[in-house]
Amino acid sequence: MNCLFCSIIEKKIPADIVYEDEDVIAFKDIAPRAPLHLLIIPKLHVSTLNDLEEHHANLAGKLLLIAQKLAKQLGHAEEGYRVVMNCNQGAGQTVFHIHLHLLAGRLFQWPPG
Ligand code: 5GP
Ligand code: ZN
Repeated sequence: MNCLFCSIIEKKIPADIVYEDEDVIAFKDIAPRAPLHLLIIPKLHVSTLNDLEEHHANLAGKLLLIAQKLAKQLGHAEEGYRVVMNCNQGAGQTVFHIHLHLLAGRLFQWPPG
């Protein structure tokens, strides 16, 4: 399978990794949309949110907890931050290995465009 984010996990493609454990890796987005823009991904390949199953519940929750911890560690928890997961082309998903965007360091519009 040819997956960009699996290649980053396997260290075949370089990335600016800020967090890693046995299940999850987080790295800087190559085209940041905010002063802080990290991608938090499971090491398990799951293509889209539509493919997430019941037995992935702990892993999915872990992505959120790591987003919260990184936001705190990097000093953005009080001012606020946004987490986003795009599902399929209509929502703007371009890499088909699920990832949570963690964005912070500027004001964000609501509702999003
Ligand atoms: P999506 O559009 O699928 O929700 O988000 C994919 C994200 O991956 C985009 O924000 C894009 O900038 C980022 N991205 C694409 N290719 C690379 C890459 O090779 N390295 C890193 N670090 N980020 C990438
Ligand atoms: Zn993958």
